[in-house]
Amino acid sequence: MVTIGVLALQGDVDEHMRALDRSGARALRVRRAGELEQIDGLIIPGGESTTISKLLTSFGLFEPLAQRIRSGLPTWGTCAGMIMLASTILDGREDQLSFGALDMAVRRNAFGRQLDSYEEELHIGGLEGGVFHAVFIRAPWVESVGGGVEVLARADNSEDAPIVAVRKGPFMACSFHPELGGDDRMHALFTSIVEESTK
Ligand code: GLN
Repeated sequence: MVTIGVLALQGDVDEHMRALDRSGARALRVRRAGELEQIDGLIIPGGESTTISKLLTSFGLFEPLAQRIRSGLPTWGTCAGMIMLASTILDGREDQLSFGALDMAVRRNAFGRQLDSYEEELHIGGLEGGVFHAVFIRAPWVESVGGGVEVLARADNSEDAPIVAVRKGPFMACSFHPELGGDDRMHALFTSIVEESTK
C-alpha cells in the first residue's frame, strides 16, 4: 500500500484524508520535514495559498518539499494547492512562493468575487465513469500551459473556457475541491499515479 501525505498546515485536510483512506492509500498528515521521508506522494489541499506559502516557510518545509518535488514526488494540488504548483502566479501576493512543478500560469480568485463558489458536472480526461461533480470555492484557473502539460478539464466543458484541471507525469492540479463532492475517483486516479511511480 502506498503512503500519501496531505500537507496539513492549513485548509481542507480531513476530507482529503478520508477520501484517500477510501481509495486504498495510507493517508498521512504532513507538517514536518521529517515526515516527507515517509510518503510516496503528496496532496496540497485547498485553503489560502498565501497562508500555505507563509507557513511552509516558517515550518522549514518549503525547501525540503521543493527538493522532493524536483526529484519527482507525485504531487496533486487542489485549488490553493494548484496555485502552489504553478510556475507563474497571476494576481498573487508579491512574496508568495510556489513550486513550479507544472509549467502553467495560474490566476488566483479568477472566477471573480461575485462568483464566490459554484458547482458543475465536469468531463475530466482520463476519468472513467462519467462526469465529476466539481465544487469551486474562490477558485483559481489556469490561464496558459507550457509544453507537455495535458489539459484534463475546462469550465463549462467548453473548448473556449478556462482550464480547470491539468496533469504532467506525476504532477496533477485542479481548480476545484475534489474532496467535497462525495466522489473518490480523482483520489483513486492519484493513488494509481503514486502506485505506478513506486514500481
Ligand atoms: N483563493 C484561494 C487562494 O488564493 C484558493 C481558494 C481555495 O483553495 N478554496 O489561495
